[in-house]
Amino acid sequence: MAGININEKCVGCGICVKICPFGAISLVNKKAVIGDACTLCGACESSCKFGAIQIERCVGKVDTSQFKGVWIFAEAHEGKLKNVAFELLGKARDLAKELNQEVGALILGKNVKPLAQELAKFGANKVYIAEHLLLEDYSTDAYSNIIVGLISKHKPNIVLYPATRIGRDLAPRVAAALNLGLTADCTGLSIKDGLLLQTRPAFGGNIMADILCPNTRPQMATVRPNVFKKPEPSGAAHEIIGVPVKLEPFAIRTKTKEIIKSEASGAKKIDEVDVIVAGGRGMECKENFKLLEELAETLGGAVGASRVAVENGWIPKAHQVGQSGTTVSPKVYIACGISGTIQHLVGMKDSKFIIAINKDPAAPIFNFSDVGIVGDVKEVLPKLKEEIAKIVKASGQ
Ligand SMILES: Cc1cc2nc3c(=O)[nH]c(=O)nc-3n(C[C@H](O)[C@H](O)[C@H](O)COP(=O)(O)OP(=O)(O)OC[C@H]3O[C@@H](n4cnc5c(N)ncnc54)[C@H](O)[C@@H]3O)c2cc1C
Ligand code: SF4
Ligand code: SF4
Repeated sequence: MAGININEKCVGCGICVKICPFGAISLVNKKAVIGDACTLCGACESSCKFGAIQIERCVGKVDTSQFKGVWIFAEAHEGKLKNVAFELLGKARDLAKELNQEVGALILGKNVKPLAQELAKFGANKVYIAEHLLLEDYSTDAYSNIIVGLISKHKPNIVLYPATRIGRDLAPRVAAALNLGLTADCTGLSIKDGLLLQTRPAFGGNIMADILCPNTRPQMATVRPNVFKKPEPSGAAHEIIGVPVKLEPFAIRTKTKEIIKSEASGAKKIDEVDVIVAGGRGMECKENFKLLEELAETLGGAVGASRVAVENGWIPKAHQVGQSGTTVSPKVYIACGISGTIQHLVGMKDSKFIIAINKDPAAPIFNFSDVGIVGDVKEVLPKLKEEIAKIVKASGQ
């Protein structure tokens, strides 16, 4: 069984009383006492400088029948839900239907209430909203404490997170706090014998591993943007639940002083455009990436790259497509001088229409392309740009 204890080292300083987001601690005769409201979120444990608070969590088998519902962590940025929140909702709906359980969505931030209706519209039966000034900027401490508390209280069966910078920071923290497993960067999620079957590339992308978490709950996974499709609105019955939040600035150990946008932030993001013109080792040098930029500009798209091109310093990492880069699914993907290794394919194979330019007729990328052009990129790209520019001009765009 999990539990929390205050030991004899308590000097009654009261810091934990201020820190507990759930108002569960009081001082009685100058000693901290834990009340029924405790969700075992863990926020107080690290705050006690005297080592007086001990939380014990069970590592063995839990009564899995108590855990119901498929939850998602809905990430928002500058007052807008990220597209990946809808993609996760779509998958959560499928999983919940198979399990005959409900879909829950968690949204944390400042003034995020208006986003709740949107989550409900796309299939969340329950939307939990935690609003606070101190949740405006993401912090590991504040976000993870609130989510651990909500999970401990409501006992969901499955929780899905986006494999974004925030999701990749948050999910492992929640998993560690609750002694749970976590499968990162899943490319497939389904139900097998009542359990969440989590599929992800392993051993450098050469095999797909199926992972089950039979003994602990909730079962948790992260999924990259663009892996699942955004669903149609569902109009399911829903409930919007406000989560009372009590946060003290000193409970958050990291402070955001300033947000500096990266150099690449001015450029179009590869996971948001309809057309990607991507280059690999076959582009030969940084200067030749100009050819890709020109074609991408003509088509209103963005430039992507293989890992080799990024490692050669031809383009920043934000443009890398693939297993250790970004997963994309644009309407058109033009692969230039890219061989088509599994690690690259896994990040772009769901593009609607793939065009490959490669001087080797046996390059594996041709097996995954709708149109293949055998030739030297330095000769093909200027011609392609010229022809496309003519079409664009003729169409008056
Ligand atoms: C754990 C792990 C993660 C990885 N993650 C990623 C990832 O996220 N993304 C990724 O891309 N890779 C990733 N890789 C690397 C991957 O295995 C390959 O090394 C990489 O994708 C190869 O890049 P490429 O196709 O540009 O180069 P190559 O495989 O060397 O292919 C170059 C191609 O260009 C063609 N070519 C050469 N000159 C010309 C020319 N003048 N005109 C036309 N064609 C030409 C050649 O015929 C060849 O097919 C990862 C590897 C590992 C082990
Ligand atoms: S922070 Fe530690 S020492 Fe202070 S009241 Fe709480 S348990 Fe006691
Ligand atoms: S574990 Fe969390 S809810 Fe429980 S007393 Fe500590 S801070 Fe409060």
